[in-house]
Amino acid sequence: MADQPYRYLRRELAEPDWQRFPGWAGVAREEWESAQWQRAHCVKNLRQLRAVVGGGLGEEFLADAEQDQRERATMSMLIPPQMLNTIAPSVAPSDPAFTEAWYADPVRRYMLPVFSDRRPDWPSHPYAQRDSLHEAEMWAVEGLTHRYPTKVLAELLPTCPQYCGHCTRMDLVGNSTATVSKHKLTMARDDRLAAMLDYLKRTPGVRDVVVSGGDVANLPWPRLEAFVTSLLDIASVRDIRLATKALMGLPQHWLSDEVRAGMARVTGQARSRGVSLAIHTHVNAAQSVTPLVARAAAAMLEAGVRDVRNQGVLLRGVNDTASALLDLCFALLDEARIMPYYFYMCDMIPGAEHWRLTLGEAQALQSAIMGYLPGFATPRVVCDVPYVGKRWVHQVARYDQALGISYWTKNYRTGIEAGDDLALTREYPYYDPIHTLPPEGQEWWAHHAEDAAPAVTATA
Ligand code: SF4
Repeated sequence: MADQPYRYLRRELAEPDWQRFPGWAGVAREEWESAQWQRAHCVKNLRQLRAVVGGGLGEEFLADAEQDQRERATMSMLIPPQMLNTIAPSVAPSDPAFTEAWYADPVRRYMLPVFSDRRPDWPSHPYAQRDSLHEAEMWAVEGLTHRYPTKVLAELLPTCPQYCGHCTRMDLVGNSTATVSKHKLTMARDDRLAAMLDYLKRTPGVRDVVVSGGDVANLPWPRLEAFVTSLLDIASVRDIRLATKALMGLPQHWLSDEVRAGMARVTGQARSRGVSLAIHTHVNAAQSVTPLVARAAAAMLEAGVRDVRNQGVLLRGVNDTASALLDLCFALLDEARIMPYYFYMCDMIPGAEHWRLTLGEAQALQSAIMGYLPGFATPRVVCDVPYVGKRWVHQVARYDQALGISYWTKNYRTGIEAGDDLALTREYPYYDPIHTLPPEGQEWWAHHAEDAAPAVTATA
């Protein structure tokens, strides 16, 4: 075989040993595999973290994390044991290299950010926004974003079993942090869900519903089943996708008897009506794919979902190399039968500059992963451009790499542009992180950050 830039090696999955942590030394497999035990033992603060890892984690790390929570964090801490166990999976707290391994770890970098991870110069881009994709502006009813012509996003609830530091819905999802007071949904949950269903009945042009949140794993199963069953009663709905990072973060939920039996019921109904019901999950690093994750994906496929697909997020220090992305894709595909689908560029939310890649870097990654995976499992690297939507990274209309501004066009109107004659001819900007720019670009931003929104420009 010729020497290749990436060398494919099949790697057997292994569940990291949770008993390496002093706080879980006595936890039996039965407890570990219980969703209830996992939820009851999520790490929500540094005191609980210290109780799990014992004295192995240096005081400097804990102080760094504490400073981040006080000054930068947009998401509160919530890490299920399953996820925490995949941080530095082969290093025990008694190892002198433990703290260093935690600092360097990809899962830690996005699930447990520390202050020193962030950019001291530009922690946020000047045009970062809380609801950076303007989803709330496009709500047809509260929580139902109608952005694309034939599909909608239904945010059923604003909570998840785990909170990711880079969450794009940081405006709404999770508990308020020291620096971000979260917006609240105003309608009662059942009224909101009923209003969503009513809108979909009145809008037969929508054929595809992404059922999301938050994470649908936090909705009591009977409520989720009732919602999906109601969707299946709407003849115009042909595709339903359930969005749940918990398939990876809390696979025990999807392995529970109640959920497996319930999923078999709804997939049976979907099949009889010719509707595709799939699960979309969110895995960013190969080490997150463990035997329990593979079992959860297999359980859902056996229950009859059409597919389990992965939508990861490109994050610097987590998965910003072709080998990290390909290792992840092969772990998903070979060992868990999860289809690599998308990698999103990290959105322009506050505090995200240290995670974000430039468009040029994202394009290079897309090129570098081509040809290794089957075509059907080669993920598209996409940029979610504000007021536009997902664009493949090579679809950019023009790109000023010195200022780090890319310009994009679109071929459909979002839900708020019915009367906008220029919607299809404008160019919409997207911004690279300023610290990655050449000196002249950084200099330009130093002087224009306050006033220089290169506004949406008309080209026709
Ligand atoms: S699971 Fe998804 S919605 Fe929940 S915090 Fe993570 S990125 Fe946000």
